[in-house]
This record gives sequence, structure tokens and C-alpha cells, in this order.
Amino acid sequence: MDLPKLAIAALGGTVSMQARSAGEGVIPTVSGETLLASLPQLRAMARVTVETLGLLPSASLDFEFLLSVLGWANEQVEQGATGVVITQGTDTLEETAAFFDYLWAHDEPLVLTGAMRSADQAGADGPANFLDGCRVALAVESRRRGVQVVMNGQIHSAGAVRKTDSLALQAFSSAIVGPVGLMVEGNVHYLRPPGQRTVLPVPQRTSQNVALLEASLSADSLLLENIVALGYDGLVIGGFGAGHASERWADAIVHIAEKIPVVIATRTGSGSTARSSYGFIGSERDLIDKGAFMAGFLCPRKARILLWLLIGCQRQDELEHHLTPL
Ligand code: GLU
Repeated sequence: MDLPKLAIAALGGTVSMQARSAGEGVIPTVSGETLLASLPQLRAMARVTVETLGLLPSASLDFEFLLSVLGWANEQVEQGATGVVITQGTDTLEETAAFFDYLWAHDEPLVLTGAMRSADQAGADGPANFLDGCRVALAVESRRRGVQVVMNGQIHSAGAVRKTDSLALQAFSSAIVGPVGLMVEGNVHYLRPPGQRTVLPVPQRTSQNVALLEASLSADSLLLENIVALGYDGLVIGGFGAGHASERWADAIVHIAEKIPVVIATRTGSGSTARSSYGFIGSERDLIDKGAFMAGFLCPRKARILLWLLIGCQRQDELEHHLTPL
């Protein structure tokens, strides 16, 4: 039987980490080829190609590097891959998932996975997540679902997933909607049909800077007031509650929004920003009147990625259109 082609890339992260010697901290050293060797059963499921594109902690991934990874993934699909799996660190997985999802123009699934426990820890979850990720990438039911994150037996859509625990095995969740699917006895089981997706062109420009600030109680406005002078091209604020800021910040935002796009998301971790509920200075109504955009269900970090991509392909005038759906 002709087996499907599965393309795998390793970028680093805990799934690729080991200590050089006892007592040292773990660092990324394990190649994609070695990860693959720990799962011999994969060879019976697919014709697998694997590449080690990086050995980085995920905090040090950047947009330019991710664009080169996207180019590699596009090539794999153009050369006949049924699905693509990328392993990386979990710390920024929710952001890379959103980044790739905005740019993934194929029906073939792109799956991101990683591990919470390094290869040398008891009960390491890397091999199980990796195998599940491959199963999801090979499943026909995964087509037209864009980019998904597979961790701890759950499948999460790129738009909703967040890392919500720093060290637990169950580190990922999707607020309100929950996982889009589950692994059941090694099979891929979806709980919902595929949703609508936004696909943007690959940005031509990558030098833009989008700042992300979080509102906090009694915060000064020193950084905020200097955002434009510092050369930022866009600003996202993780606002209080339903998208609110202090009076002091509201006074600064009105001047910033005249110059660069300002997006207000909620810092709460769940739910949407409001549009028409509150009327105090710094409320969502006031900030909209002052020229800011409300992020809807998009969390601050994913809103920053969207704004960075839109500026990069000169489509910032479409910002509001892309901000409402989950
Ligand atoms: N817990 C993180 C991981 O899963 C730490 C390192 C990283 O994100 O690369 O990989």
C-alpha cells in the first residue's frame, strides 16, 4: 500500500531538551531525527521526512525565522505531504500557532506539538504528544482545519488555544470553546466541524514593531506616552476586563491612535471585549471614540501577531474586519 507522506520539522523546546550532565539544566540538543527514532511505529503509518530546522527555546523564536519555517512547510505540501508536524517549545506555542494559521493557505493540516517534560524526566510526554500530532496530521478529518495544537490528548484550534499552566502536563486550554477534538484510543475524534478561517498574504515587510503593554492598577504612562516616539508601528494593550484602561492611559491613547493602530484586548484570559456597555473615561466606548480598536475574543498576544502581519502586508485598514471572530 502506498503510505501517505508526512513532513516533520523540529525547532527545539522541551521536547528536544536534555541535560548535558547530572545537575545541569536541560537545553535543546535532541534532533528531529532522534525524536523520530523514538517512535518506530510511525514508519508503518507514513513515509516520513524529518528536518531539524532549529534547536531553540521557544522564547527565542522570531517572526523572520517562523516565515522561513512556513516556507519549508509550504514546500512540503507542494511536494505531496498529506500533513505537516512541527515540534517546538510550549512557551510560545499559542503565538506560533496563530502566526502560522493566519498564513496557512492549504487544506492539509499543519500540527504543532511539544512537551511539558523533557526527554530525561520520568513520564516524559514528548513521544505521546509527537505520535498524537502525527496521527492528527495524517487524519482526513483534519483537512481544512488550518493549524492545530496537539497536547496531552487534546486538539486545540490555533485561534483559541492558550498555555494556561506553567508546568502541568495539562498546560493548554481553549477558553469558552474547549478543545476542538480529542485523541480516543489512538484515533482522532473531532467535536466540532471546521470553522471559518482568515488567510493573509505572507508579509513583504518584516521590520515593523508592534508593542504589547498590559494595563495594571495605578500604572504610570511613561512607556505608553513614548510609544510613537520610540518608533512603534502599532500598539496592543491587554486591557482591564472588557477592554478598559485608566483615565491616564485613555488620555495618552487618543494621541497615539491618531498616529498608529491601537488595539485593546482583554487581559482576563477569557471572553470578548465589549463595544457598547460602559461609558466612563477609559471604557471600551470611550477608547473606541478615541480611535482604538477592540480585539473581540482575540487575546492580546494573538492580536499583536495579527496587527504585525497586517502591517507587514499593508492591510492595516482591514484590522477591524479581522478582530471579531474567535
Ligand atoms: N516548557 C517549555 C517547553 O515546553 C520551555 C521551553 C520552551 O518553550 O522552549 O518547551
